Amino acid sequence: MNAIDLRSDTVTWPTPEMRRAMAEAPVGDDVYGEDPTVNALEEEAAAMLGKEAGLFVSSGTQGNICSILTHCGRGDEIIAADKCHITTYEVGNPATLGGVHTRMVGMQPDGTMPLDQLEAAIRPAGNDHYPTTRLICLENTQGSMGGLVLPPDYVQAVADLAHNNGAMLHIDGARLFNAAAASGCPARDLVRGADSVTFCLSKGLCAPIGSIMVGSKDFIRKARRMRKALGGGLRQAGILAAAGIIALNEMTQRLHEDHENARDLALGLGKLPGIEIDMAQVQTNMIFIKLTAESRYTGAQIAEKLKPHNILIGMTYPDTFRAVTHYWIKREHVPQIIEAFRTVMAS
Ligand SMILES: *Cc1c(COP(=O)(O)O)cnc(C)c1O
Repeated sequence: MNAIDLRSDTVTWPTPEMRRAMAEAPVGDDVYGEDPTVNALEEEAAAMLGKEAGLFVSSGTQGNICSILTHCGRGDEIIAADKCHITTYEVGNPATLGGVHTRMVGMQPDGTMPLDQLEAAIRPAGNDHYPTTRLICLENTQGSMGGLVLPPDYVQAVADLAHNNGAMLHIDGARLFNAAAASGCPARDLVRGADSVTFCLSKGLCAPIGSIMVGSKDFIRKARRMRKALGGGLRQAGILAAAGIIALNEMTQRLHEDHENARDLALGLGKLPGIEIDMAQVQTNMIFIKLTAESRYTGAQIAEKLKPHNILIGMTYPDTFRAVTHYWIKREHVPQIIEAFRTVMAS
């Protein structure tokens, strides 16, 4: 029996329809620009996000670093939040791969960096002491704070701030379509002010591999070259892009189901003794479960005790852990998960 795997939405297998499309995909050498399935995916993604061009990349991390290195040169600086994915989980790659300095601004509980602090972090021009602020990076949804949606007005204000100071805006939209589903604001409107965007096909959208970068024609032309330098020039990648097309067109339309399941799961778990859930934080497909003094177990112990119930949870800290809903977490799993937690917490 397959586990009820709440560790992340990255654990999603491709759907049967994706596997069929992958088997039958027309392909060519994408480094020559000759893979029709990759070309179709890139065009559809760019059109959907209201940008001129798109680029298929191996992963979200590759999309972010390829964007950063296309915008920035050695001695340039990016500004990003201290708890965002780029500054926390991407191996410090702006520094190691690009000689790009990272300036961090503290993230607020709502997932934003305060505009005044962001403005203060931008380096004044014409001073020989400073690196050059070239890029501001936002993350939507914001993962480490709970899959929070950044308000569209805030994103636009950051875009204006960047552009008024000669910098660019990159959006790490690994879960951009979750933000769109939760806010009711089309994805293209959420990235209107951005000069580049990355989003993942391989998380809640169920594709086995791949992310997309979008931006202007000129930006993507340069990014293609950078992708090659990063070892991301793939050959018959249409095998992967075929799943990506289904991810983009179909899986983006059903994410609200994951959000409803997350909400119902959070409401049920929040009633159990020893568990506290801030419902204002449950906006998309993530639930941060906080353990109170009443709990006899740590997050890691609870994770261990859930395994015999065929349930996997991840990112455990002594007093918190995370559960993520996705395509393979079905409606009928929700009461089953709540019951398993009830048994474990009472044991
Ligand atoms: C998962 C994730 C990435 C990186 O994607 P990979 O495909 O795992 O490299 C980047 N940013 C955010 C916010 C993510 O959640």
